[in-house]
Amino acid sequence: MVTAGPTYEKIDPVRFVGNYSSGKMGFAIAGELAGRGARVTLVCGPVSLKIFHPGIERMDVESASHMRDACLQVFPETDGAVMCAAVADYRPKSYAAGKIKRSRKHMLLELVPNDDIAALLGSRKSEKQILVGFALETGDELTHAAGKMEKKNLDFIVLNSLRDPGAGFGVDTNKISILTKEKQILSYPLKTKADVARDIVEEIVRRMETLI
Ligand code: C5P
Repeated sequence: MVTAGPTYEKIDPVRFVGNYSSGKMGFAIAGELAGRGARVTLVCGPVSLKIFHPGIERMDVESASHMRDACLQVFPETDGAVMCAAVADYRPKSYAAGKIKRSRKHMLLELVPNDDIAALLGSRKSEKQILVGFALETGDELTHAAGKMEKKNLDFIVLNSLRDPGAGFGVDTNKISILTKEKQILSYPLKTKADVARDIVEEIVRRMETLI
């Protein structure tokens, strides 16, 4: 299973809280896995990307809670998951059924936390399953990424820094480091997202071979 893209958290029928994730990295990983013969379920938030491969089944979701429900349903049947989606950490506390009208008073939007999907899967994963996460950090990258890997019970985490030009949201390139639960750090140069996907899938395949 691969998650990709942003999530949209509805405020009213015409507005949402979202983020700039394009879904490109997750789609590249799904394509690389399917190209190597895997059957992939691609759980994706609202993105404009298209992907056609007989090995890929796409599940479109909108909000973080939709994505959580889809992931909890699919994950038990999988050999593992790559959590590439930029899931909203918060959602509006209430949804307004009618479009919120403009007024002269200032407005406060109250947000409540969403579930951490990767952490939920991490708490349910079997010894035969591999769980991979992503971390997009702006400072003290290695420490934060290592903390997330442990908290979410990941096998490895892919770190990309917003400080690296050409890395992160929207662009076609990425520069990553892989931190493993065995405390290895694998660093890679700036590459296209297709080539980065190959490096990530290489690490997944290497681990799967040790599980067989
Ligand atoms: O904690 P942070 O959001 O930085 O962690 C990023 C990793 O956790 C990514 O792999 C992302 O897909 C996953 N995540 C998730 N559910 C959330 C938040 C993050 O699966 N609510």
